[in-house]
Amino acid sequence: MKKYLPIGIFAALLVCACATNPITGKQNLNFVSNSELFPTSFQQYNAFIAENKVITGTADAKRVDLVGSKIKAAAEKYLTYLGQTQYLKDYRWEYKLVDNKEVNAWCLPGGKIVVYSGILPVTQDEAGLATVMGHEVSHALANHGAQRMSAAQLQQIGGVALDAATSNKSESTRQIFSQAYGVGSEVGVMLPFSRSNESEADKIGLTLMAIAGYNPDDAIAFWSRMSAKSGAGGTPEFMSTHPSDATRIANLKKLIPEAKATALKVGTIR
Ligand SMILES: [Zn+2]
Repeated sequence: MKKYLPIGIFAALLVCACATNPITGKQNLNFVSNSELFPTSFQQYNAFIAENKVITGTADAKRVDLVGSKIKAAAEKYLTYLGQTQYLKDYRWEYKLVDNKEVNAWCLPGGKIVVYSGILPVTQDEAGLATVMGHEVSHALANHGAQRMSAAQLQQIGGVALDAATSNKSESTRQIFSQAYGVGSEVGVMLPFSRSNESEADKIGLTLMAIAGYNPDDAIAFWSRMSAKSGAGGTPEFMSTHPSDATRIANLKKLIPEAKATALKVGTIR
């Protein structure tokens, strides 16, 4: 009898550790809840913003803000349609353009979107920005960052989040978080997303883009430009974590009709 007890406990832990993600409908490993994760996320975001030059007042900065607010509104409208408004209740949306020549962008848990000025020549216009920001928000909504981490690492983050008021975050926790969520480049190699995560973020991102009032067909042009960017002068950071090739672009084309159909059902923002 004794022998089986640990297995029972382990099974119970596994059951508790899973939660249905409202946006993907899938069971996700969820050792850390949003309320545990967000304080760490916001601290890391604030530290990044303090250490980097945020561009404000320019046409580019205004465009990032405009597209970000539309993607936020689209996410809210979509989650409301799915009957999951609660999911976004602790989100504290922000959209910042930072002065950095890296071709990159990311979104931290809780809606903190950062676009690097280096990606603007590739995004080019509002639709290009909506492609990137919609895609990055989708990784956050689907908790893909958590899936980049091991269970032990997640528990460490959760422990730190719960303890945030009294303890200093260790350097290793900061590095784990940065690698999993893509904050900055100071830790070197960022973990890539899996193919299935990429495909999922593409699907949700195209849907958000369509609900936000953009044409998902324009996403193809962005990913083609991103694909062309590698080769000449090395692989951009964004490409190393978001491989863009013929397979991906073919997959995107297949996803577009469904994104448009969903946007028709959900409605688009005004
Ligand atoms: Zn991605």
